[in-house]
Amino acid sequence: METIPTQYTWDLEAMFASQEEFDEQMKEAKKLLWELKAMEGHICDSIQSFCSYMDKDELLGCFLEDLVVYAKMSTDVTASDEAKQKNLAAAMTLMQQASIELNFASLELIHHKDTIQTYLAQDVCKDYRFPMYELFRTLPHRLSDEQEQLLSEVQELTSAAQETFQSFRVEFEPVIVDGKEEFLNGATYHEFLKNKNETVRKEAFEKYFKEYKRYENVFANLLVTHAKGQVFHARQRHYQSALEASLFQDEATAELFHNVLDMANKKYHSYLHEYYHMKKELLHLTEQHVYDIALEMSDDVQQTYTIEECFDILYQALQPLGDEYVSLLRKAKEERWIDFYPSKEKRTGAYSWGTYRSHPYILTNFTGSYESLSTLAHELGHSMHSYFSNRANRPMLAGYKIFVAEVASTVNEILLNRYLLDHTTDEKVKCSILADLMDQLIGTLYRQPMFAKFEEQLHTWVQNREPVSSSRLTDYYWKLNQEYFGDAVIVDELQKYGCYYIPHFYYNFYVYKYTLGMSVALSFANEILKGNTQPYLDFLHKGGSEPCIEELKQAGVDPCKEKVYEDAFTFFKKTMDEFYDIYTSVHK
Ligand SMILES: [Zn+2]
Repeated sequence: METIPTQYTWDLEAMFASQEEFDEQMKEAKKLLWELKAMEGHICDSIQSFCSYMDKDELLGCFLEDLVVYAKMSTDVTASDEAKQKNLAAAMTLMQQASIELNFASLELIHHKDTIQTYLAQDVCKDYRFPMYELFRTLPHRLSDEQEQLLSEVQELTSAAQETFQSFRVEFEPVIVDGKEEFLNGATYHEFLKNKNETVRKEAFEKYFKEYKRYENVFANLLVTHAKGQVFHARQRHYQSALEASLFQDEATAELFHNVLDMANKKYHSYLHEYYHMKKELLHLTEQHVYDIALEMSDDVQQTYTIEECFDILYQALQPLGDEYVSLLRKAKEERWIDFYPSKEKRTGAYSWGTYRSHPYILTNFTGSYESLSTLAHELGHSMHSYFSNRANRPMLAGYKIFVAEVASTVNEILLNRYLLDHTTDEKVKCSILADLMDQLIGTLYRQPMFAKFEEQLHTWVQNREPVSSSRLTDYYWKLNQEYFGDAVIVDELQKYGCYYIPHFYYNFYVYKYTLGMSVALSFANEILKGNTQPYLDFLHKGGSEPCIEELKQAGVDPCKEKVYEDAFTFFKKTMDEFYDIYTSVHK
């Protein structure tokens, strides 16, 4: 049995020191829930009752968040601990119960909108202005109580396509590597594509997409049904389109969406073609097929770091964010915010979590690789964003939206990259860092907007009630891929079935957010490295106190303006040029 030194485990006792404390809070939360429930029909009786409801609801939110997050985090590190599982089940049940019991509240608030507006004009209610603004702006898209009930039942039907996609397990024939059969699935597929042997790559590609071709009518049906569901809900709720319905939550506009897409798919697209030409040249390929594009250009340089070394690097790399930021990194390590090492009972992956009243927590599966280091930088970005947001705002105004959630984590990764590039003398290591960076930039800046274009076309067909067959979908996807890769890459026909394995096509116009988040982060990083850090730090303190596009604008990074994308795509071009110079000098 491995023993991990306590200093490398997180301190969950800082949240609840004992089971008694946990149970006590369960009790208090229940009591508060019934107090709130008793206010039904009377929330808006007076300004006092309204304030009291808002404050108590906020407090209950904190209690429940503490209970659920603590219980979930405990089970994430000790999966088989029954007491922890019981805590989690109890906390989740209470959370669901609260949401059902307090379902009346938003309707009641909406029915008393005019009264509430008079309350909000008064200074004592100023904190409630934004949450109420968020609630009231949904009004034009709300239906009668009866229709809402109907729609929620229809929702169960329309979500079937997505659920079917998720539960559908495609099986693949094994790939032959050195005479041995090897297992092929979604995860190993990407490993096969890195194999130095062309036959292996080609075989994996063909065996993979052959299965999607086999079920093409099933997937086409699922995709179209999903899109029909989105279009149906959008129509019922008086949106112009499914796209508009999806953008509504972030107060983004179709113009912004198309702007993001055009930057990648048109204006700065030539850089991507340049990249594939470069890759073909450097890898000495006479033909570059789609199954060759995952081939790694960098030499195998395995850097390893201890946890202490990682932190020493991060203190330096993130120093441009200021002394306080760095001192918080130290605090994160000293106060045991982080659970570092993998263990048998622990879940995989990494995340940053925590609650309003706790300090941030990070779960990671540290192996000492370069990836572990950049994961740490990434998650610490989330943690610091939460830390500052929670410190600067009361709970109801602290939580930031997903729309801006990846900004702080990406900024940290970029700063780490820059630092390592500036402080590494080994040119091969530099190449490997730059190659990783290019992959990441292509994934977010180019690949996602291509996906978004496909998604938009599908929805347009459905919206216009045009027939959508599998061949229509796959031919369009093939054409998109040919435009995407340019003339340096041969897009083999099977690639067209690629539109059937992308889970994001079953979400709802989500992918442009990756592009936007990366562009915004690069724009911030650009300013930070020039010494202009304060607007970024101010942004980290905003939490969920304003519409997110507004938060960004005020920090000088307006996602509606081209400058943000210009910075991002120029950065990609610069990275590519830097890589080319170093690579060609190493491989003379
Ligand atoms: Zn993240």
